[in-house]
Amino acid sequence: MGTSTPPDHPSTAFNGQSALLNQPIGDDTAEHEPYSFDEDEEKTPKATAEVFKCPVGSHVLCDVVKLPCGQCLCKACLPKSYRRVGIERTWPGTLDRHLGILCPCCNEEHTEGDCWPDFLSNKALQRVQSLIATLNVMPITGAQQLVEAFEALHIDSTTPEDDPRSLFEHDEVPRKGPIDKMERILRREMDCAICHALLYQPWTTPCGHTFCRNCVTRSLEISPTCPTCRTHIRLQNLDHRSSQPNDFIVRITKYFWSDDLVQRKEHMRLEYPYLQDDSGLSMPLFICTVSFPCMPTLLHVFEQKYRNMMRRVWGNGYGDKHFGMVLPDSDNITAPVGVRLRIDEFNGLPDGRSLLETTGTSRFRVKRHEFHEDGYVLAEVEDFEDVSLHEQEHREAVEIMAAPPLPADFQPTTHEDLNSMTTKEMMDYAYSSITLLHQSSPGWLHARILAIYGQCPNDPSLFPWWLGSIIPADETQKVRLLEQVTVRERMKICCGWILEWTARRRSSSWSACCSM
Ligand SMILES: [Zn+2]
Ligand SMILES: [Zn+2]
Ligand SMILES: [Zn+2]
Ligand SMILES: [Zn+2]
Repeated sequence: MGTSTPPDHPSTAFNGQSALLNQPIGDDTAEHEPYSFDEDEEKTPKATAEVFKCPVGSHVLCDVVKLPCGQCLCKACLPKSYRRVGIERTWPGTLDRHLGILCPCCNEEHTEGDCWPDFLSNKALQRVQSLIATLNVMPITGAQQLVEAFEALHIDSTTPEDDPRSLFEHDEVPRKGPIDKMERILRREMDCAICHALLYQPWTTPCGHTFCRNCVTRSLEISPTCPTCRTHIRLQNLDHRSSQPNDFIVRITKYFWSDDLVQRKEHMRLEYPYLQDDSGLSMPLFICTVSFPCMPTLLHVFEQKYRNMMRRVWGNGYGDKHFGMVLPDSDNITAPVGVRLRIDEFNGLPDGRSLLETTGTSRFRVKRHEFHEDGYVLAEVEDFEDVSLHEQEHREAVEIMAAPPLPADFQPTTHEDLNSMTTKEMMDYAYSSITLLHQSSPGWLHARILAIYGQCPNDPSLFPWWLGSIIPADETQKVRLLEQVTVRERMKICCGWILEWTARRRSSSWSACCSM
């Protein structure tokens, strides 16, 4: 971009751009049709300019970041950051977690590390700036009203990024007016790079790229990198509120293409029935064991009802390849929570049985269930995630501030001890304990098991899922692990298991000593 003026001040350089743009333009301005609002009375110049208005000031958005509440805000309009209290010792504790801002849009605190770049919004804004600057020197009928509407909002006036002539070339459809022009220019930017259709529930990644939420969720399940720039993205590390759609892109797509969005919604409902909130009894349930997110579950399918279910789920490779795994519960048939499994490998045997390799993706609560005529259970489920990272940090800060500081060589011996440890201290304790236990080679740490589940992760967001998958603990305790919505509570449960296992090992070696 060229010169830019602070968004809070009306642009004075706007009309000064004329000389730069006053170039021969051929017959481009001659062939437009009269501008009219007949098709959609809502799309007045004023309403159109409002779409691009900054949520906290009377100016057009400029150089924006995406906030965890979904809003996009000019960098210049972000309030001053401050140091968050008591966060240093909490998990994850990275430097970008230390500073906070009080959000002027939602009035909540956001962490600096949760405010992300937003390339698509900035590109859309540049396109609009270019168009308005160009219309100022290459007016078409009705353009003046639109330019004035934007000027009334103090649009940031910059040298157009685009060659002004190029904005008016290659028009397949006869031009109707400046708002249609803007619509066509923006439409080119609003396709999802994964499904190549209009962005539906636009979701912006920490690296600043925007995709349909369902598209990027599916893509991240298979490979945890941004489909555009290959930055590593860990779903379970994301603030759950970062799942809020990008509000500015939602505003643009709703304003210009609301009919297309209705079609997109219907298309998504047909293509991803299991991802929809309102789809009713859509999740086939495998009622067998406790699975965990990010971890493999190997299954041997032999019961007739589950063979029927696999026909539906796998569908000769064309099914949606997802089903729910829940633990049986004597009262309600299924445990209250489960994990969605994605089939990675399907090996059908000649006699109709099959061997499956699956990976856990998201967690869900079972709202209700019914028996399908083929014998298996179909459930209506509701996804759930951890509370936001921001909230998790806050809860940990409150808990560890209340406890006296621990000596450096502190070793927990009771469950109460765990409450006064930081999440990082629990991770250190768990990791060194697993290393010690490994030397005594209990069956559940056998090399064969580790070949399937991987080596012990030194990361509190993954460790509990890993330990839960391999430790021989009570299954209902494992359901409790699955239900927790903070990394810290999961670490407490896991460290509790390690305490019990270590105590058992001590007492067995003690009795071994006595019997000698
Ligand atoms: Zn602003
Ligand atoms: Zn906010
Ligand atoms: Zn998409
Ligand atoms: Zn990216």
